[in-house]
Amino acid sequence: MRVLLVGSGGREHAMAAAIARSPALEALFIAPGNPGTAALGTNVAIAVDDVPALVAFARAERIDLVVPGPEAPLVAGLADACRDGGIPCAGPSRAAAELEGSKSFTKEVCDAAHIPTARWERFDSAAPALDFVRRRGAPIVIKADGLAAGKGVVVAMTVTEAEDAIRSMMDDATLGAAGQSVVIEECLIGDEVSLFAFCADETAVLIGAAQDHKRIGEGDTGPNTGGMGAVSPPTGFDRARQEAALDLLVRPMLAEMVRRGTPFRGIIFAGLMLTAEGPKLIEYNVRFGDPEAQALLIRLQSDLLPALASVAAGTLDAADIRFSDDHSISIVLAARGYPGKPAAGGVITGLEDAAAEPGVHIFHAGTRRNDQGQIVAAGGRVLTICATGATLGEARSRAYHAVEAITWDDAVWRRDIGDRALRAASG
Ligand code: AMP
Repeated sequence: MRVLLVGSGGREHAMAAAIARSPALEALFIAPGNPGTAALGTNVAIAVDDVPALVAFARAERIDLVVPGPEAPLVAGLADACRDGGIPCAGPSRAAAELEGSKSFTKEVCDAAHIPTARWERFDSAAPALDFVRRRGAPIVIKADGLAAGKGVVVAMTVTEAEDAIRSMMDDATLGAAGQSVVIEECLIGDEVSLFAFCADETAVLIGAAQDHKRIGEGDTGPNTGGMGAVSPPTGFDRARQEAALDLLVRPMLAEMVRRGTPFRGIIFAGLMLTAEGPKLIEYNVRFGDPEAQALLIRLQSDLLPALASVAAGTLDAADIRFSDDHSISIVLAARGYPGKPAAGGVITGLEDAAAEPGVHIFHAGTRRNDQGQIVAAGGRVLTICATGATLGEARSRAYHAVEAITWDDAVWRRDIGDRALRAASG
């Protein structure tokens, strides 16, 4: 098969590594890719959301399967344009990607499919929204309805905080069009986990579950990031519970999408809260998470490429997909200054030594090669250091050991990835 993978992060490097292992692979192109993917295939200088250029390239190169990494190309209609051109694509149509693009759309689907989720209301103007939070009280969650690059959710602990969030989204339009409608939700209490599955029409096949670490600082402090690390599986959320959550929170959604005439084909990433009343859906994303994908894919034992092809073709079968029972961890090395203005250009060495450690995998994100062929930092999240182990403790110490083998003056990383899960396991 000739494959075009779209994206440039650690997630896409991990996907490329799994695809490159496939005996069915004839050629792999990555748009735009990074220095890690360049070692596995051919990087192509096309932006992830340049749908016409991606489709033209796929046509010219006789691509058999397009694999989207991030959400931007999906929301921009990449899967629809591929299907119009007769090119299989392992991602959802623009209509099905609304599950990530619109909070109120997701809530309507959940209600129609009887999926447990926080009680909610949608508002198109500030006055009734303000009135609602004053009546309901705090804690309460305010969400911009549209895509807001991870900045559209405020978990307000006081009514004043909720009022400020509504005014800033709706009156001051700080999030542009995304915040002109808001969804206001009941605040769910519990442990938050992410569940991943391959999906095609009414079929869902479990990939696994992970718990990420969103804040920049240790002890979950400081600003939110794209994700600083993940562990898989989360303590106490074993495969039987993951399967039960898939039955409760994902399969009914797939049936509802089929009923609406907008079936979902792709990877679903369900964010859920394990509440005292059972798991409840927080949100769907219509693609792998980063850095969860890295932690999950290093445990994949079967061939990723036919699995993705069967997602695109609607012939997905659980018998073809196997993951090891190992534990895994991913630790993000970011550049000093991230998530604000990251320091660029620092030279990174020691990657080969780090990757030689048992069970360790290293994935590139914001890196580039300089004129001397050295790897230098060129982004916020720069590398993901991953490891597997028979226990989380083993995976964790392997990964941190590998981090120590890397020399890069501007590196910032959290030393506490996995600590929460280990405490939960021992408590
Ligand atoms: P979202 O963009 O919907 O994933 O929301 C971002 C984060 O806000 C989630 O990962 C949760 O930590 C938190 N969050 C969202 N909705 C709720 C809710 N109803 N109750 C509690 N926390 C929430």
